[in-house]
Amino acid sequence: MEISQGAPQDGRPGIDQASATGEATEQHAMPGFEAVARLAAGALHVPLVALLLTDGSAFWHTPPGQPDAVPVDAALLAACRAAMRRGSAEVLLDAREDARFLPSGADPAHAAVAFFACEPVFGLDGQQLGALFVVDRRPRLALSASDLAALRDAAALAGTGAALRCYLNRIDPSTRLPHRNAFFADLHAQLSNGTDTAWLLAIEAAPVTRFHAFVRAMGHAYADALMRAVAERVQACMPGMQLYQVATTRLAVLLPGSHEAPTPAQLDALVAALREPVDCLGVPLTLQPGVGLLKVEARELRGGDPLRRVMNASSAAQGTASGWAVYDHSQDERHRQEFFLVTELAAALSERAELELHYQPRVDLASGHCLTLEALARWRHPTLGTVSPDVFVPLAEQAGLMRSLTDWVLDHGLAQLAEWLRAGLDLRLSLNVSSIDLDIMLEKRLATVAQRHGVPMARLELEFTESSAIQHSQLTHDVLGTLRKAGVGIAIDDFGIGYSNLDALRRMPATSLKIDQSLVRGIDTRPHDAAIVRSMVALGHDLGFRVVMEGVENADVMAAVRDMGCDEVQGYHIARPMPAGAIAPWLREYAARDPTLAGTSC
Ligand code: C2E
Ligand code: CA
Ligand code: CA
Repeated sequence: MEISQGAPQDGRPGIDQASATGEATEQHAMPGFEAVARLAAGALHVPLVALLLTDGSAFWHTPPGQPDAVPVDAALLAACRAAMRRGSAEVLLDAREDARFLPSGADPAHAAVAFFACEPVFGLDGQQLGALFVVDRRPRLALSASDLAALRDAAALAGTGAALRCYLNRIDPSTRLPHRNAFFADLHAQLSNGTDTAWLLAIEAAPVTRFHAFVRAMGHAYADALMRAVAERVQACMPGMQLYQVATTRLAVLLPGSHEAPTPAQLDALVAALREPVDCLGVPLTLQPGVGLLKVEARELRGGDPLRRVMNASSAAQGTASGWAVYDHSQDERHRQEFFLVTELAAALSERAELELHYQPRVDLASGHCLTLEALARWRHPTLGTVSPDVFVPLAEQAGLMRSLTDWVLDHGLAQLAEWLRAGLDLRLSLNVSSIDLDIMLEKRLATVAQRHGVPMARLELEFTESSAIQHSQLTHDVLGTLRKAGVGIAIDDFGIGYSNLDALRRMPATSLKIDQSLVRGIDTRPHDAAIVRSMVALGHDLGFRVVMEGVENADVMAAVRDMGCDEVQGYHIARPMPAGAIAPWLREYAARDPTLAGTSC
């Protein structure tokens, strides 16, 4: 306990000073507490003002010459602590009968605490740092609005002081570990003291989204206790090492100057300790730790960002079998590039000038007609050039942009189809849809766009990859069923490279199977592939699907797939994907081709 000027004398009965102070002797006093306490005492006419912080410190103030001093005893301290932990404001106008302040059997007429009010204290980031209390021997009949406002103002000022104290003490208020600024200061000091290199460890307790879920479910106090438990485990595994709290879910260790790199066995032991379930405030929890390791050289300090790099390594290590990883420069570059692309893609989706749809014809082998076009997204970045959908579609999925990308594709694709239909072209449009879009709203989304552009639903087909269509069985089944009822065709894309459950496939309300191009491309040269594709065609027909071959690149493959009895073909041999404006001329040119040369007619 730090006793401020004018506070009751030391050695009050029952106060455990050590537990109240923690490391208070090495710490800065509470900046501004005296002034805040004087203001609160004067405004509310109380003989005792207290400030308790979540790090265990307590500050007490009694105005000088106070005849009616309230004794600071263990019961009052415990009551203040409990009120602080509750984290809400509390006003007890008459506390004389409240058991929290009354020793058992004591006469309420002699109660030392008759008026008690508590106001939580928050830091600049909104995190609770403690609580401010005003206490009196005399009860109150009422508290005026200006009294309450004075108490709240005093608590707000105390919060600023408490935040400043953490900063001056270089400690994180929740774990009481030195924080990020201290980490950088110590790292610079170590590397400018003649040591050329330093080893850093970053320890990530759990993925940030999971950690936020803990906070939402259990509150900040639980999350703070969790990080303290993690810090204790790290300290037990690495005795004597300096630990820092560098982000909400992350700790860092700066190994002392001459220290060698930790061995793989030490890192394995650290990860194993962190993977043991943590019993935090009585709630057991298993973390998903990641430990990153980085060697920093003195010359890298200037422009470099060692903390960012070592934290990248710890994030990459999460979810891997070993749980730890050494910083990898090329992986870091990849992440930076991906981040750059995601922000650029978000901008492209809102401005919509860089995105475009290309269309690739699909030809019906029986009639020789081009009946369907597949819409394929294209992104022309002003400096990076053309970015492949194989790159930006997975990024959009990870970054939560997939719905806007699909909305953009549906809107543009259907607007274009409407134009072709008005021009008298008898076409259907096939659109790629991600597993993220596969929910109960999909049919409504599509119907709204179709209605806006006046396109019949029967002119549309949606392509889902084999893995996304088969993955979430019942829901998928219902969503696809609704689309089918609305007349929309359903194609199972990239078929043959996933692990289809044949029973699920049999029940799938799909209309076509698109056999993956990696299998189709080799059928003219690889008998094994040809045998697989032949049996897939038979399977598709047995299950009542039309079978479409993708990746038909030459006349030999074309002849082979025709021989296998497949229904439709798509590939560079027929046409590459092309801008919308090229479709009508291509259709005219294709119809004029010599059917015997083209193998089909349109
Ligand atoms: P996919 O749906 O399997 O599309 C077929 C891909 O194969 C296209 O690549 C197409 O240009 C290419 N292709 C067509 N014929 C041939 C051929 O004969 N030989 C070879 N080697 N390739 C051929 P693209 O346009 O780069 O698209 C790649 C993937 O990106 C697509 O694979 C699809 O999964 C995804 N994608 C493209 N546009 C969209 C979109 O709007 N939404 C979603 N969700 N995914 C899209
Ligand atoms: Ca496709
Ligand atoms: Ca495909």
